[in-house]
Amino acid sequence: MTDTFIIGDTEIKRGERKRISLDVAKLYDFTNMNIPIEVIRGKKDGPILFVSGGIHGDEINGVEIVRQLLSKKALKTLKGTLIAVPIVNVFGFNTKSRYLPDRRDLNRCFPGSENGSLAAQLAHTFMTEIIQKCTHGIDLHCAAIDRINLPQIRACLDDPQIEQMAEAFRVPVVMHSELRDGSLRAAAKDLGIPTLLFEGGESLRFNGKVIKSGVQGVLSVMREIGMLNPLKNKPADKEIFVARSSHWIRAPHSGILSVKKKIGQRVRKGHVLGIISDPFGVERYEITARRTGIIIGAATLPLLNRGDAAFHVATFEDASTVEEHVDIFEEEMDGNNTGRFLN
Ligand SMILES: [Zn+2]
Repeated sequence: MTDTFIIGDTEIKRGERKRISLDVAKLYDFTNMNIPIEVIRGKKDGPILFVSGGIHGDEINGVEIVRQLLSKKALKTLKGTLIAVPIVNVFGFNTKSRYLPDRRDLNRCFPGSENGSLAAQLAHTFMTEIIQKCTHGIDLHCAAIDRINLPQIRACLDDPQIEQMAEAFRVPVVMHSELRDGSLRAAAKDLGIPTLLFEGGESLRFNGKVIKSGVQGVLSVMREIGMLNPLKNKPADKEIFVARSSHWIRAPHSGILSVKKKIGQRVRKGHVLGIISDPFGVERYEITARRTGIIIGAATLPLLNRGDAAFHVATFEDASTVEEHVDIFEEEMDGNNTGRFLN
């Protein structure tokens, strides 16, 4: 690490902690749009980690994960640099929307360009001011509107450094996922920066268990890569379960959904996941599982048209063991597992 570390016009010296408003654009009323950033630089050298939330403006669990992370006393002994960015898509955050005012999805616009669309400009600023200066990254997401996701890590596990970080995050379910063009993860990978994506909960809602698992996961990765001291009582290794494939089960008929299975639960081929019926509850259509697996995502809006995605099922070698570990994990997050991450 060099002695000078600069973001925007602000220099952060060793041992300093600073808040920065990074200029990204002007609105049409000439108001400045800024990304709020906090940089904590340890006295000793170490990795440079970005933790970002709100790439999709309505995914606010990540914003809360970053806020809670910043309040942790453990950061006093930090080695290296933590760049905490609670809200990347400040435009979408203010309009409670996933997108930018130009209707683009920021996570399809990386690495961006200086003279491109508004989304491309924001991506470019974030890349050049933050990502390019980092050695590691964690990007926080939740399900798109009207859906909920089980806390999970999505990562390209072919890279041993990423695999090590994914294991260290200590959530039971890890999805091996290829990189999508234009995503932050793909752009970071091109720069050789190992990056995890944490996914959990729903848009425009706080979910206590998801937030806790996110905060603990980030701290655990920071310990693993040498930014924080190991815990005095080193926790036992957590088993993680890697899904190599997943599929959406869609509504076979339009109607109103009654849910029979929740996220985190194991399903077997032929199991009824939900029942779709007419407004009188008379004409009924079953939604059934195609394969054995774990429900990792589901619709929360029970009004479905034929073909709408209803349940996201990931397949594992041994789904019953995964279900047990998800139950234990949920209990650890708040002392009960009755909510299935729904509260
Ligand atoms: Zn997202």
